[in-house]
Amino acid sequence: MSILIIEDEPKTAAYLHKGLTENGYQVDVAATGNDGLHLGSEGTYELMILDVMLPDRDGWSVLDELRRHGVQTPVLFLTARDAVEDRVRGLELGADDYLVKPFAFSELLARMRSLLRRRSLRGDELLQVADLALDFLRHKVQRSGRRLNLTPKEFLLLALLMQHHGEVLSRTQIAEQVWGINFDTDTNVVDVAIRRLRTKVDAPFGEPLIHTVRGTGYVLEKR
Ligand code: CA
Repeated sequence: MSILIIEDEPKTAAYLHKGLTENGYQVDVAATGNDGLHLGSEGTYELMILDVMLPDRDGWSVLDELRRHGVQTPVLFLTARDAVEDRVRGLELGADDYLVKPFAFSELLARMRSLLRRRSLRGDELLQVADLALDFLRHKVQRSGRRLNLTPKEFLLLALLMQHHGEVLSRTQIAEQVWGINFDTDTNVVDVAIRRLRTKVDAPFGEPLIHTVRGTGYVLEKR
């Protein structure tokens, strides 16, 4: 379970890092809004804890950018004052919950667990890698908030790559799982399908997520 903390105050960051690590979470800390946005955009965290007051780019702007790029990771924001307009603003920008500083660590853990429970109900129905999002239930794919039209095979292929993001899949593995057959001799069909998928998923967006690993296969990841 990996958590991203975006917090500039070293004492608070260290306190959260220690407490969460002791509770079995994998924790990364970003000390500026820009670093937080960069790490958070990778879509690899189960939850983000976001401080509102940050030196370069404030928490509101980080949250707004993340949501505009389709990153659905639950966000719990930390605010210094218990002002109604702050809470409303955070929730309107797409945060899931908030805590007012100073807070008890047990309260933070309880809020986090509740958010993570809500998330696990959705399970693998939603896949997210960087600004690419796939929704199994609605059979919908979006990148940077733009809807992509995929054929059923392309959808399956993309789902497979996203489920294994960061992991190299061989042509044989892909052929077996997407087409349900063994192509020991002719895996060209995989290459053709990948090429078509790239024209929809990567080409219009500048930054490729599907990469060829020479002699091995393919991997989907943000580089
Ligand atoms: Ca701060």
